[in-house]
Amino acid sequence: VDHLTPAARTELMSRIKSRDTRPELMVRSIIHRLGYRFRLHRKDLPGTPDLVFPSRHKVIFVHGCFWHGHTCKRGKRPTTNATFWGDKISQNRKRDRRVATLLTNEGWQVMAVWQCEISDSDLPTRIKRFLGR
Ligand SMILES: [Zn+2]
Repeated sequence: VDHLTPAARTELMSRIKSRDTRPELMVRSIIHRLGYRFRLHRKDLPGTPDLVFPSRHKVIFVHGCFWHGHTCKRGKRPTTNATFWGDKISQNRKRDRRVATLLTNEGWQVMAVWQCEISDSDLPTRIKRFLGR
């Protein structure tokens, strides 16, 4: 017997679903399996990078293809309200570039993992190559 009201059940399920499918969590678990230690969302760094490797001076961003305007199928811009979405996505891309420049100037190396790359079989290898031993 479900002890939750239908509304509470719906709310809970949507939370579980979005949490489990979040690209960032999937990347975290890949990196965790590779044996690296990392910090999350350091607010004192430009752009609050998703994963921070302080002793290596490296950061990884996980980008949703739509919101960050990737040149893949998922990154296709909608044709309705094209100007609205176009502006929003352009702003995000501009911010991504600015943040990467700031971090680089502060001596950090930056890697971006795109949502569509998460299931690529060579992603762990690319991450290892970026992070080093
Ligand atoms: Zn993509």
